[in-house]
Amino acid sequence: EARGKLPKYPLLDEKYKLIEKMGDGAFSNVYKAQDRKTGNMVAVKVVRKYELNASQGDKHLHATVKQKPKGIERANILKEVQIMRNLNHPNIVQLYEFSESRDYYFLIMELVPGGELFHQIVRLTYFSEDLSRNVITQVAHAVRYLHEEKGVVHRDIKPENLLFEPITFIPSKTPKVRTGEDEDKEDEGEFIPGVGAGGIGRIKLADFGLSKVVWDSQTMTPCGTVGYTAPEIVKDERYSKSVDMWAMGCVLYTLLCGFPPFYDESIQVLTEKVARGQYTFLSPWWDEISKSAQDLISHLLTVDPEKRYTIDEFLAHPWIRGTDEETQPAA
Ligand code: ADP
Ligand code: MG
Repeated sequence: EARGKLPKYPLLDEKYKLIEKMGDGAFSNVYKAQDRKTGNMVAVKVVRKYELNASQGDKHLHATVKQKPKGIERANILKEVQIMRNLNHPNIVQLYEFSESRDYYFLIMELVPGGELFHQIVRLTYFSEDLSRNVITQVAHAVRYLHEEKGVVHRDIKPENLLFEPITFIPSKTPKVRTGEDEDKEDEGEFIPGVGAGGIGRIKLADFGLSKVVWDSQTMTPCGTVGYTAPEIVKDERYSKSVDMWAMGCVLYTLLCGFPPFYDESIQVLTEKVARGQYTFLSPWWDEISKSAQDLISHLLTVDPEKRYTIDEFLAHPWIRGTDEETQPAA
């Protein structure tokens, strides 16, 4: 990446100094930035606003011409912001602030310095069962919070949207001013148990750009309706939650072997494979992986959403609870 060639965004620049680019998507750039006043590091997601393709006068002429959207419409970004604002969980990226300039929206977020889980899979080829369990359980805690406490479906769970904090030690909240007296006192920070030397730290789910609220967490009813809810709406709620469970199956599969369950060069063939739920535990890569892990994955990669595991069934599975004999190394 071309460092030192960071753009300047009016208004944002007054408060934050961009340090480096951390990621980019179709509509967004994410930067590591520093709060000029406090010195705190944050992540800033900069999203370009929707641009009209032509001048106002030409609008009607081009109204029917389909073009690649050039930005994000206000309604969409506000939905992402509104959902994120309402979330507070250790395994979910925290949104601090939202602002905008003429051309951009700015989401000021908690910085997750380890980057994407995706890069760690590439770096390590694949994860051990213990490390995979540690990672996917953290994802599951985020998903349980979303599904059961907030009525939110993420809809875009994938290794690129799973970030991690590569730490085993969190210093105490308020850094102590050393007075000399407490010089040799231990910092009363919190140790996060790692997973041996390969420990990855805390996982954080990011990117609520596609997420949706399926029920009102205040009234515990499907969104926007009370008492008049049609069965297909109630069903739709269940179905939409189950998309996250499918995605978790894909993530877990990928963690354990290093490649995704569904892949093909051709989009048509790939789509067909997914629709049929056509995947295998490919030998020799899966030979050494426990049957219990495979059993769990098969309950997630189930085509019928009614039969697919819910988040509670997932968390109750022996492989996750670590109580399954098969997951223990042979004596
Ligand atoms: P998009 O909707 O464009 O996919 P994301 O919110 O997923 O936007 O952000 C794009 C990328 O930016 C992520 O995949 C990740 O690499 C990086 N990123 C996003 N949020 C953070 C964050 N809080 N801390 C560190 N990196 C982040
Ligand atoms: Mg993303």
